[in-house]
Amino acid sequence: MGARTGTRFLEEMDSKKREIWYGDEKITYNITKHPVFRGIAQSLAELYDLQHKPELMDVMTYVSPLSGERVGMSFLQPKTKEDLAKRTMMMKIWADYSFGLLGRTPDYLNSALMAMASAAEFFGKGKIDFAENIRRYYEYVRENDLCLTHTLINPQVNRSVTSPSKLSDPFIAARIVEKNSEGIVVRGARMLATLPLADEILVFPSTVLKSGQDDAPYAMAFALSVDTPGLKFICRESFAHESNIDHPLASRFDEQDAVVVFDDVLVPWERIFILEDPEKCNAYSEVTNAVYFMAHQSLVRELAKCEFAVGLTTLLSETIGIDQFPNVQEKIAELIMLTESMRAFLVASEANAKMNKWGIMVPDSSFLHAARNLWPRIAHKLNITIKQLGASGLMAIPPAKVLNSEARSYVDKYYQAKLANAEERIKLFKLAWDFVGSSFGSRQDLYEYFFFGDPFRMAGNLYNWYTQKEEFKKRVKDFLDKLK
Ligand SMILES: Cc1cc2nc3c(=O)[nH]c(=O)nc-3n(C[C@H](O)[C@H](O)[C@H](O)COP(=O)(O)OP(=O)(O)OC[C@H]3O[C@@H](n4cnc5c(N)ncnc54)[C@H](O)[C@@H]3O)c2cc1C
Repeated sequence: MGARTGTRFLEEMDSKKREIWYGDEKITYNITKHPVFRGIAQSLAELYDLQHKPELMDVMTYVSPLSGERVGMSFLQPKTKEDLAKRTMMMKIWADYSFGLLGRTPDYLNSALMAMASAAEFFGKGKIDFAENIRRYYEYVRENDLCLTHTLINPQVNRSVTSPSKLSDPFIAARIVEKNSEGIVVRGARMLATLPLADEILVFPSTVLKSGQDDAPYAMAFALSVDTPGLKFICRESFAHESNIDHPLASRFDEQDAVVVFDDVLVPWERIFILEDPEKCNAYSEVTNAVYFMAHQSLVRELAKCEFAVGLTTLLSETIGIDQFPNVQEKIAELIMLTESMRAFLVASEANAKMNKWGIMVPDSSFLHAARNLWPRIAHKLNITIKQLGASGLMAIPPAKVLNSEARSYVDKYYQAKLANAEERIKLFKLAWDFVGSSFGSRQDLYEYFFFGDPFRMAGNLYNWYTQKEEFKKRVKDFLDKLK
C-alpha cells in the first residue's frame, strides 16, 4: 500500500463503521462528509497528497525496508543526523500547511510509534511477546500510512485520589475487566482524544501511576482500530464552519476533541504492548525516547506557528498603518525573538543529537525538555500580541455576506485600511480573530498550554531529571568554600 493519497484516505475513513457521538447524533459511516469533520478531513487529504507531488516525493517519503513501497518520512528510524534533518524537512512542510495549527498531524504519533518500535525490547517478552507486538504494529501503521489518535488521561472526576481505583466507581477510568483467550476486556473512559477522525487509537499511560498493584488494572498500553465494537467517542461542540472567509482557520483545521468510552472492549493480545505493569507505564516514554521524538515534531510545529504569527502581525500592522510606532515594533520584535528561539532549540537539538542504546539518533534531550517546558509559558504571547495590535479592528469584522448587501458602500468606505480595501481588510482581521479569539482560537490557546501535559508537573519532572544542576551547584559551593 505505502504512502496514502488524499483520495485513499477519504475513502478508507468513510468505509469504517465507528461510533462517534455528536450531541444526540451517532456518526457511523461517511465521517468525512459530516459537517463536523468535512473541513479537517479535506485538510488531512491535502497533507497526504503532498506525499505524491513529484517535486516533494523524496522529501515526504522514503523506501520501506520491508515492502519496497514509498512510505511516510515520519516513520523513518533515524540512524544519522542527516536522517533527522530529513524528518524535520518533511514535518515542517506539513506544519507550514496549517501554520502549526494542526497539533495532531499524523507525523506526531508516527514519531512516537517509530521510537517505541525501535526500542521494542523495552516492552519485553513474557507469555506474550510485547516487543514483537509493537514492532509489527509499527510496520502495519507504516505500510498502510494509518492516521492515529491517542488518549492518555483518566476522566477528570476527582484528582485528589491517589489511584483511579479509589474513585467512587473503579470503572470510571478505563481498566481491565477480564482476560480471556482472545485478549483483555477494557471498561471505563479516557480523555482527551484530539482527532477522532482516525484509523486507530493508541491508549497509552501518561499520568504517573503511584499506587503499585492497586494501579495494575489501569497499567496498560494498547492500540485498537476505531471500528472496534464497544469503542465510543463523545465529541465536544464543533468549531468547524462552512465559510472559509468568516472562519478561515476553523473551517479547515478544527481537529475536534473527544472523550473515549470503552464499553467492554476486547483488545486482542497482539495489540497489547504493556499489561498490568505500572513501572513500565511510568517509564516507557523516557526509556523508549518516544517523548523526545514527539517533542521534536512539536518543536517543528511550534516554529511554524511562531513564523505565522510574525507574518500576521507584520501584515496587520502595515495594513492599518501602525507599523512605524516603536511600541508596535517592540511587540513584533518579541515575537521574532520567540520564533528564533524556537528555531535555535530545533537546530541545537539536532546538532547535539546522540545515538541511543536502541541504535536510533535522538535529538538532544536537554534542549527538547527546555523547549517543551518553555512553550506553554510563552505560546500565549502570540495570542495576546495579536489582540493588542488588532484592538477594536478584531471586532469590526461583519459576516462576509455584508459584501453582497445594500450596506456594501458603507463597508467599502469605513472598513478600508491604509493598505487594503474593505474586503481585504475584513479577510485579514477575520484570519487574526480566528487565530486568537474565536472558539477555535481560544481552544488553540488552551491546547498549547496543556499540549504536553500539565506544565506545573512537567516542570517538576524537569527539575528531577536535570542532573546537570549538581555540577552547577558544586561550582557555587566551591566558590563559597573559598570565602574566608
Ligand atoms: C485542547 C486539548 C487537546 C488535548 N488533546 C489530547 C490528546 O490528543 N490526547 C490526550 O491523551 N490528551 C489530550 N489532552 C489532555 C492533556 O494531556 C491534559 O489536558 C493535560 O495532561 C493535563 O491534564 P488534565 O487536563 O486532566 O488536567 P488536570 O490533571 O485535571 O489538572 C487541572 C488543574 O489542576 C492541577 N492539578 C491536578 N492534579 C494535580 C496534582 N496532582 N498536583 C498538582 N496540580 C494538580 C493542574 O496543575 C491543573 O492546573 C488535550 C488537552 C487539551 C486542553
